[in-house]
Amino acid sequence: MVCGDNDRRPRSRHGARLGAPPVGAASAIPRAAGTGTRERTQEPHRLGSSAQPLARALLAACLALPLSACRAAPSDPAQGRTRVILLGSGTPNPEPERHGPATAIVVDDVVYLVDVGPGVVRRAAAAGLPMPALNRAFVTHLHSDHTAGLADLLLTPWVLGRSAPLDVIGPPGSAAMGEHLQAAYAEDVRIRLDGLEPANPTGWELRAHEVGPGEVYRDERVTVEAFTVDHGSWEHAYGYRFETPDRVIVVAGDTRPSDAVLGAARGADVLIHEVICEAGLAERTPEWQAYHRAFHTTGPQLGALAAKARPGKLVLHHVLLSGCTEDQLRAEITDAYRGELVFGRDLQVF
Ligand SMILES: [Zn+2]
Ligand SMILES: [Zn+2]
Repeated sequence: MVCGDNDRRPRSRHGARLGAPPVGAASAIPRAAGTGTRERTQEPHRLGSSAQPLARALLAACLALPLSACRAAPSDPAQGRTRVILLGSGTPNPEPERHGPATAIVVDDVVYLVDVGPGVVRRAAAAGLPMPALNRAFVTHLHSDHTAGLADLLLTPWVLGRSAPLDVIGPPGSAAMGEHLQAAYAEDVRIRLDGLEPANPTGWELRAHEVGPGEVYRDERVTVEAFTVDHGSWEHAYGYRFETPDRVIVVAGDTRPSDAVLGAARGADVLIHEVICEAGLAERTPEWQAYHRAFHTTGPQLGALAAKARPGKLVLHHVLLSGCTEDQLRAEITDAYRGELVFGRDLQVF
């Protein structure tokens, strides 16, 4: 019997299959033997050894791009080695000035993305982050507002010169999402590889690393810990705590008030947290109130949490005003929390 070739991976110009196997084939992502379920990564990923230094990344980018596209983000020595850039501060609402949730934690010249909402690549470009540096992302959960930029993050930096595969660290389900995206864009990848367009054969690949709570990543610059948050009916929703050489950054993800967030944020330099205005929520229908109270955190709840956690700086993103003004929401939070509060906006740097 002759078996058909079901491998839909793009071929190189020489006909060899490239990169990770497609959906349904044996995956590069570890699976528990005999169960068909995906195996959680037990050891922290140490992907940093393959991280490209900025100079190399820029050089690669500049080979493919006009000079104007090759600028690096200006560094401010006064800010130390770590910068936090709000790439997207929004929600599912398509507010033109607020792109989908995405945060860049930049240590020296290495970029660690947290969530990949719509607009992530264009906001990264606006922030001056070189495309080849966009090769690792931590996903808090698989809600579309946090992941709808994943195809863009996979393909656009590759088209513009990224040769490193995209590493995605996230909850169970991340691998399937990555595999389906690669299958969806297989024809695009094939045309770019086999046509006249100069293209490297590796940067289109997505390597998913499904993780559980605990330390999930470590390299010479950062240690990253995932913690489980309470996001309604999501079985797997995480926040991430980044420990860098000079700062501790916590991105809480989407969550209702959570002791896990409180524990992770104690002593953090920056806590990035979602919020919905209680006064606005109280005017919504019972159904919407039930949803938001199970999935999200209100202004007074966030104020109480931040008053206990006492972060160096509380940065709001994923803000649902629900008819409130910013001042109303700010008042709800500062009723209990007296520390530094920043109403986050796209492209703000901390
Ligand atoms: Zn969300
Ligand atoms: Zn969500």
